Amino acid sequence: PSTNSSSYFPEIIDNLKQVFKLSAFRKNQLEAITAALEGKDVFVLMPTGGGKSLCFQLPAICTTGKTKGVTVVVSPLVALMKDQVDSLTKKKIDALLSTSENTGDSDDWQRLVRNDAKPKLWYITPEKLCASSSVEKMLSILYSQGNLARFVIDEAHCISTWGQDFREAYTLLGTLRENYSTVPIMALTATANKRTMKDIVAQLKLKNEATFIQSFNRPNLTYSVQLKKTPVPDIIAFIESKHKGKTGVIYCLSRKSCETVANKLCEKGIKASHFHAGMSPREKEQTAQDWQNNKTLVIVATIAFGMGIDKADVRFVIHHDMPKSLSGYYQETGRAGRDGKPADCLTFYSGRDLSKLIDQIRKTEDTSPDSKERQIEGVREVYQFCSNISECRRVQILQHFDEKFDRAKCNRGCDNCVAVADSRKLVREDVTKHAQGALNFVRHIRDRGDQITQIQLLQALRGSSTANIKARFEQAPQYGSLSKLPMELVELMFNRLMFLEMLSNVQVVNKTGFHIDYLEIGPQAQSLLDGRENVVLDWYPKPDK
Ligand code: ADP
Repeated sequence: PSTNSSSYFPEIIDNLKQVFKLSAFRKNQLEAITAALEGKDVFVLMPTGGGKSLCFQLPAICTTGKTKGVTVVVSPLVALMKDQVDSLTKKKIDALLSTSENTGDSDDWQRLVRNDAKPKLWYITPEKLCASSSVEKMLSILYSQGNLARFVIDEAHCISTWGQDFREAYTLLGTLRENYSTVPIMALTATANKRTMKDIVAQLKLKNEATFIQSFNRPNLTYSVQLKKTPVPDIIAFIESKHKGKTGVIYCLSRKSCETVANKLCEKGIKASHFHAGMSPREKEQTAQDWQNNKTLVIVATIAFGMGIDKADVRFVIHHDMPKSLSGYYQETGRAGRDGKPADCLTFYSGRDLSKLIDQIRKTEDTSPDSKERQIEGVREVYQFCSNISECRRVQILQHFDEKFDRAKCNRGCDNCVAVADSRKLVREDVTKHAQGALNFVRHIRDRGDQITQIQLLQALRGSSTANIKARFEQAPQYGSLSKLPMELVELMFNRLMFLEMLSNVQVVNKTGFHIDYLEIGPQAQSLLDGRENVVLDWYPKPDK
């Protein structure tokens, strides 16, 4: 049956406009809401930011549904539940939150039992829901009154041991179906993995569930990725040529670089501000507000910026530094083009970014070795994505969410597909010999107790005529050995060697307090020097002039 002609439609649309103050539904929202009101089990898969909350908050305040009473919402994070309850309260929707700290509050209990003061939504942690005897009692009362409208399991993938976010307490939710057999269940997640989806349905024992699966593809976003060389001038040129006067976000890894990049943009007349966790709440609020009101156009931020930011007309998202994970990348770029109009996502990456991120992960305290390894794997996955110029970016991103995407539908929507459409010729080059030369050079320098930076190595291998480079390194047999290799290829090779852990960086603080990155032979170097590994690069040679 068409959702627009269902008997629930008038009340749904009324609530959308009057209570939630929204003008239209996003994809699948109306369908999921209608199915919920019909009393069905519902499974919703929607990318983060897609608008899952509305799918259960709106039916919770409808009075025409097949079931009535309290909607019980389970979510893994108390902070997220608090945010939702706050925002519901602002909309004058009665919502209650029970966490381990506050359960058993007698006022709350009174409210739940009484018919005239029942909250519409009851947010509760899975631990409390399934393992607290007072909560169990309350649920039985509501159940016998016929006042349990539905159970909502948000972030339902936490039930699956296959996923990274597995929560022991979520497995208890499997008992809901047996104990409250007539109460419909709605499960929501942003994790599209097929195995996880099956697991969720099986464990929650959903029956004839209405399933709403939404593609993670964002057709209006254009993705491109560049090897990082001169990021700030490149960013300025990009904004001036494509997005002059338009709104955007630039993500940086460190607070310091947020500030420097913002300053440099301002010097060029681009209205930019920095935003990071080191600022006072007042400063942050002011900065966010100025951006919302278009007083500043570009926010240069760490990933602290974005949660809860919902500006529709963001025309570009730039990653000045490599993102930490593909999910993060998807989420951050996803803040562009929420209005459905074209928007650009540009990312800079380098082997140096990779090793910085890995260092950062290794240094974090309170993280288990396992979780560190997973995070490092995640960063390496991003590097692979960035350096893969043969496969469509969309195919790569969506594959991360287990979604198959047909490259033909990208339609010049990413740099790699544009290159194909423009008939550029991708060349695959084996640079093993050159790479061995570079490693031998570094080893030679290190063996004699000397240090070399990446720029110096590059100059030396290219046979620089600069006096001090010559003086220090000319004796090495590989001096000048890469002078014939195109610069682009040399740069790609260095970055690749970092990724392969054949070269690494060591940071040394010199006498004046400067941090200098020197090159070191990496742990995997020997396999290249022994000839067990090859270094192969894809690139687009510039046409001969
Ligand atoms: P999710 O839980 O899927 O990550 P949320 O429910 O937090 O996403 O919604 C993300 C943002 O989208 C919120 O700011 C919300 O107000 C907004 N939103 C949701 N539905 C709509 C809609 N139909 N129209 C406009 N904005 C919406």
